Amino acid sequence: MPAPPSANHTVVWLQPEAPAKPAEGAPCNGCGLCCLSEPCPLGVLVSRRRKGACAALRWSDADGRYWCGMVADPAGVTGITHPWAVRALTALARRWIASGVGCDARLDVQAVPPVDR
Ligand code: SF4
Ligand code: SF4
Repeated sequence: MPAPPSANHTVVWLQPEAPAKPAEGAPCNGCGLCCLSEPCPLGVLVSRRRKGACAALRWSDADGRYWCGMVADPAGVTGITHPWAVRALTALARRWIASGVGCDARLDVQAVPPVDR
């Protein structure tokens, strides 16, 4: 049985269809666990918080994975809709979050069984 949540554990709620987290260094598959655990520096700015899930994280039913909203839909996250600003935000976000680099999240993932209510 998994250990109960403690100061060293974070419980996140994720889509049941989300892919399992790959090994560190493997290509990012959009499992979303890093961004659900805590926002990255860019996520701190857009979420206005340092803990909890990033407000910019977006789930895609079509793709069966999470995407960073600052890359996939910066206008939807920020409300800024000028095309040049959206392009600049996307480019900035890609560089800032090191998009395309392998998974850099050191997380020990443990599934918690659903609780009967
Ligand atoms: S960086 Fe890793 S933990 Fe974060 S979404 Fe990608 S695969 Fe998941
Ligand atoms: S990568 Fe994107 S969704 Fe994830 S924490 Fe950073 S800003 Fe938020």
